[in-house]
Amino acid sequence: MLIGLITTIVLSIAFIFTIQQRYLTEKKRELYRQANTIAISLVTTGYFSDEHNRSYLMTVQASVRGRGMIVDRNGSILFDSNHLDEGKSLVNPEVLSALRGKSSYSFLEDMNIGVVTVPIVDVDYRTVLGAVVISDSFNDISYSIKYLWNIALFFIVGLTVIIFMLSYYLSGSFNKPFRQLLDHINRITEGHIEEKVQIKGNTEIEEITTAFNNMFDRIEAIESHRQEFVANVSHELKTPMSSIKVLAESLIHQPDSPIEIYQEFLYDINQEVDRETKIINDLLTLVTLDKKDNSLRIKEVDVNQLIVDVMKRLKPLADLKNIQMLFESYRNVQAEIDATKMELAITNLIENAIKYNKEYGYINVVLDTDFKNFFIKIKDTGEGISKEHIDQVFRRFYRVDKTRSRDTGGTGLGLSIVQKTIYMHQGSIKCKSEIGQWTEFIMTIPMKHIKRNYEEE
Ligand code: ADP
Repeated sequence: MLIGLITTIVLSIAFIFTIQQRYLTEKKRELYRQANTIAISLVTTGYFSDEHNRSYLMTVQASVRGRGMIVDRNGSILFDSNHLDEGKSLVNPEVLSALRGKSSYSFLEDMNIGVVTVPIVDVDYRTVLGAVVISDSFNDISYSIKYLWNIALFFIVGLTVIIFMLSYYLSGSFNKPFRQLLDHINRITEGHIEEKVQIKGNTEIEEITTAFNNMFDRIEAIESHRQEFVANVSHELKTPMSSIKVLAESLIHQPDSPIEIYQEFLYDINQEVDRETKIINDLLTLVTLDKKDNSLRIKEVDVNQLIVDVMKRLKPLADLKNIQMLFESYRNVQAEIDATKMELAITNLIENAIKYNKEYGYINVVLDTDFKNFFIKIKDTGEGISKEHIDQVFRRFYRVDKTRSRDTGGTGLGLSIVQKTIYMHQGSIKCKSEIGQWTEFIMTIPMKHIKRNYEEE
């Protein structure tokens, strides 16, 4: 609004000022033209050589628009078109300078009159015979300018009103969608999280609305994951507790039970306590991996040796099911990784390969590299994972067969820990399987560690 107003005012002033200057120049030029024409005609008609014969003045009288006076060499007024001052003398600086051959222009401000004084020069171009004084009121110009000012003022006021109304309307319609969005955000803050933002407006506001809704969907998804996770944690922790309670209560209510029953129940209680401990340990590992400031302790590690160590440690477990484990290494791999975390991930995968394998099965571990990454492939000849489950196995607490997994001591957190560890190393993990035949997990990890922003030196 301000920009519009200031521009209008400045433009009006500039416009009127230019017109005023032009009027004044024109008027001045007109006065000079009249004075010079009279001066020349007086000389050429012979007014001065014919004893100031008044008959020559008829044309002068007709051609003067304001007031015209003819002054002789001594400053006496020979002719006054208003017939007021004839015979008197007119001696002022302008007349004196005209008698010396110089034209001049002056402006009488108080009377708003412009005066032009020009010399009357004889035909020899040397002798000055007198002067012509032409004066005219500038009132007509003043009136025109005043008229223009009135028009300008009318426009400025009109424009101000229009600009004011327009800016009021536009700022209102610009702000409206933002105010709606703000209202909505406030409603969400108050707890109405189920409402979706629906604001019609220009493309930008619609984009903001969509982005806002997407962000909110994402937050909702995170929140529902969190709730699901908490529910799962509670459920998983409660199950061993319930078993322990049942076992303990039956012993309390049957105090006369034989010692074998006591031993058996205590053995079961002990198993449940181990299970509870394992769940809590896995949860703690996951929570530590989830922490934002959790950084990797990167070192140059001999990956071949790391895999050999894990397999050696798990051999007794494999032997229980008569499973043969084979390690195929195509290269000697030195990689920048967190040895402890990576060891846990590989352990989890090989443990699964043993747990979900059949008696007398095989496990094949392959280590290979390309120029940038190293790959670990762990393939077993176990029960396999069906297509509908394969994408889910990395989810926390997800187990294809809950009872079977519980029997084997599974918590459903192992693969989540593996995936999280691989992601932290900027790598990826894939699972392929043929139901009833085999399962293969393929990890791809960069050999040189790529630092993330939040990791400290
Ligand atoms: P769990 O502690 O139950 O083993 P994981 O997160 O390690 O939990 O695995 C999730 C589920 O994926 C398991 O319950 C199992 O059903 C399936 N799974 C994992 N590894 C294998 C495998 N090698 N063969 C078949 N199924 C597997």
